[in-house]
Amino acid sequence: MKHNFGAGPCILPQEVFKQAAQAVLDFNDGLSILEISHRTTEFEAVVAEADKLVKELLNVPSGYSVLFLQGGASLQFAMVPMNLLGDAQTASYLDTGVWATKALKEAKLIGNVNVVASSKDANYTFIPKDFEIPADSAYFHYTSNNTIYGTELFEVPKTGVPVVCDMSSDIMSRVIDVSQFDLIYAGAQKNVGPAGLTIAIVKDEILGKIDRKIPSMLNYQSHIDNGSMYNTPPVFSIYVALLNLRWLKSKGGVAEIEKENKQKAEALYREIDRNPLFKGTCAVEDRSRMNVCFVMENAELEKPFLKYAEEQGIVGIKGHRSVGGFRASMYNALPITSVHALVEAMQIFEEQQAK
Ligand code: PLP
Repeated sequence: MKHNFGAGPCILPQEVFKQAAQAVLDFNDGLSILEISHRTTEFEAVVAEADKLVKELLNVPSGYSVLFLQGGASLQFAMVPMNLLGDAQTASYLDTGVWATKALKEAKLIGNVNVVASSKDANYTFIPKDFEIPADSAYFHYTSNNTIYGTELFEVPKTGVPVVCDMSSDIMSRVIDVSQFDLIYAGAQKNVGPAGLTIAIVKDEILGKIDRKIPSMLNYQSHIDNGSMYNTPPVFSIYVALLNLRWLKSKGGVAEIEKENKQKAEALYREIDRNPLFKGTCAVEDRSRMNVCFVMENAELEKPFLKYAEEQGIVGIKGHRSVGGFRASMYNALPITSVHALVEAMQIFEEQQAK
């Protein structure tokens, strides 16, 4: 078995992949999940159960709609301002990495953007804490987990303006209080399901407040009005997400997986801090539980360590090109035994170097 520390897309438990494979061959009465009409009662039941499970697992209060969309989180970068930012208004953004930068770049095409703080000059190795969000902002946008740099924002910044959050890489990994947000979106392909599906959780009352004419596919309201079936939905991605949400529920839900995710992160950071060959790249208080970024004190040892790790079945740990070194992504589906395997590899490599 491989220990897959890849950043995605779509790291899911083996049992979910097996069920998904079976549904491609025979979902209902010999028909594939790929060929049945999305207007059948069978598929409507899939969407209804997925909607119910997202609400249950994240404890979504009433007054919010869960949407199954397409276009990835990247389309949300544009949909958010199109739906929430009036022509004369300003939206506030916290710049904590590439994805935050891309989000605010799209917003600038629609209206005015105020960057409240940025850690760009430090290659995004920390999350700025000292900033003010102007009270007249149309909304405040931030990225809860910075997949590339390995930082995570656990506290929702305090503000009286609507809060919009890109949770692509940590949704369903820890308990959140949805009532603190007005709009949450996430490309599904880390902890939820395959690429091709984007989840949005929208507080209904924030919509319809601006004058702009919005094309139907880009308008949250058309998707709400049509129960995420305004057009042909990504049927397979929704179905696999449902299987994965069922798996998460069977594990005890988000609170239980959060405990495991904490244990996994603690085990790996403990070794990074103990082992003299390695060092973490981010401010300790901002360390992500999902994406652990680290380098070697002696960069020349990075290639040999990568090779040694691969020989132990550890794959996907090569760092993103903008950080270098290593990135171990530890999404919900990664078992703690894989983290133990990586820690052991680091320890044995250290012993070998000492010889
Ligand atoms: N936001 C974050 C935090 C991400 O990690 C990613 C992709 O990894 C994106 C946005 C972009 O998502 P997509 O490829 O679904 O557009």
